[in-house]
Amino acid sequence: AERKRKVAAVIEDVEHALSTPTALLRGISDAMVTEMERGLRGDGHAMVKMLITYVDTSPPGFSDRNEQGLFYALDLGGTNFRVLRVQLGGKEKRVVQQQYEEVSIPPHLMVGTSMELFDFIASALSKFVDTEGDDFHLPEGRQRELGFTFSFPVSQTSISSGTLIKWTKGFSINDAVGEDVVSELGKAMERQGLDMKITALVNDTVGTLAGGRYADNSVVAAIILGTGTNAAYVENANAIPKWTGLLPRSGNMVINTEWGSFKSDKLPLSEFDKAMDFESLNPGEQIYEKLISGMYLGEIVRRILLKLAHDAALFGDVVPSKLEQPFVLRTPDMSAMHHDSSHDLKTVGAKLKDIVGVPDTSLEVRYITSHICDIVAERAARLAAAGIYGVLKKLGRDKMPKDGSKMPRTVIALDGGLYEHYKKFSSCLESTLTDLLGDDVSSSVVTKLANDGSGIGAALLAASHSQYA
Ligand code: ADP
Ligand code: MG
Repeated sequence: AERKRKVAAVIEDVEHALSTPTALLRGISDAMVTEMERGLRGDGHAMVKMLITYVDTSPPGFSDRNEQGLFYALDLGGTNFRVLRVQLGGKEKRVVQQQYEEVSIPPHLMVGTSMELFDFIASALSKFVDTEGDDFHLPEGRQRELGFTFSFPVSQTSISSGTLIKWTKGFSINDAVGEDVVSELGKAMERQGLDMKITALVNDTVGTLAGGRYADNSVVAAIILGTGTNAAYVENANAIPKWTGLLPRSGNMVINTEWGSFKSDKLPLSEFDKAMDFESLNPGEQIYEKLISGMYLGEIVRRILLKLAHDAALFGDVVPSKLEQPFVLRTPDMSAMHHDSSHDLKTVGAKLKDIVGVPDTSLEVRYITSHICDIVAERAARLAAAGIYGVLKKLGRDKMPKDGSKMPRTVIALDGGLYEHYKKFSSCLESTLTDLLGDDVSSSVVTKLANDGSGIGAALLAASHSQYA
């Protein structure tokens, strides 16, 4: 009974520390908009960088849909990288043929040298090119062209160049910071003897936005919820004070927000989050990302379970030593436990056995574990919804038009393993967004899974910026 009281007390503290009442979410959205505006002004202290992408939304941007030919794309994310080739058939036929391959990045390469990482990528790309079949056609005398999706903050100087600002997620390769990632990849491709030109460097959010908009013109923003998180959207070029170049043809410029680095004293940071941040590769950075993305959610759950084990003997008198190991509990395992609807929570029991090393757990312990997953996933989903609501506010799509006209259809493309596979997360995100928008507005706002839109999008951008276009 004493133990039960302690368990209940810890859970109550956790529920309180991680709670996200709607009023708090509204405050967070407002803070997000304020930081977005600071970033657009070029304020060096802005929490979100609002990076210029050099992607316009009219030709040679991505909306005439007339791109044709064979193009490659390479997507370096947080966990995997994908290589893709597409045969584009122009306005009528669109994507005629596509093939892709996914390779997981060996962990030692995430913290090694720039050359090792890029050599590994270029070598995989080269092997992929060797398997190109007759379904794909490269006109005589032409060089193959590539769109490079790179999901880390980059300061771009053109559509096909940019220097790495910093690494995020699990990456830390010091000698790459400040270097032009296109030239690094280009040199590695040369070392492989691969003759291919990188014609577009795009963030994954920007690729997703381009791919999403290719399929549906009403797409105005793209959100990634995978290993990390980020957002891109279509901004009016006149609303970007720091932009001093020529006005894009459409009058619009795609902005890569880099919202993962958002920070605000409104964010509900608990002792678990603070300790995880302190011990991370990038302390003090990417705070919003650390609360909502796939790399971290399982780890937050582990830290809470560890506290329950220490302070309330949740798993018995000894604290299971496996539970002390950072990142042993991965978000897909958390998700599997959270979705377990069996009467005896069999999956939760099996995961606790495998991961935590406790062979027999009571139904009560399993229930508590599942409840902790729920608290952490719900906070993440609600905070992500608050961010999306902030982007809609920035776009002026959070309210019905003042003149009484119809609300324009507004589509948000979403991608990333967390959003795609963690159903309780994505449905909580959607219901929270509906709640924030209200019924009238939310009936015009659509969220859409843009599964591998970013690969197609990068290939499209490579095509529209082709040296032959
Ligand atoms: P990346 O972000 O590396 O580009 P993905 O978009 O494929 O790659 O996202 C991978 C991430 O998605 C994983 O690191 C994991 O956190 C999360 N994820 C994958 N599968 C699941 C799942 N079944 N449930 C919850 N999260 C998942
Ligand atoms: Mg990705």
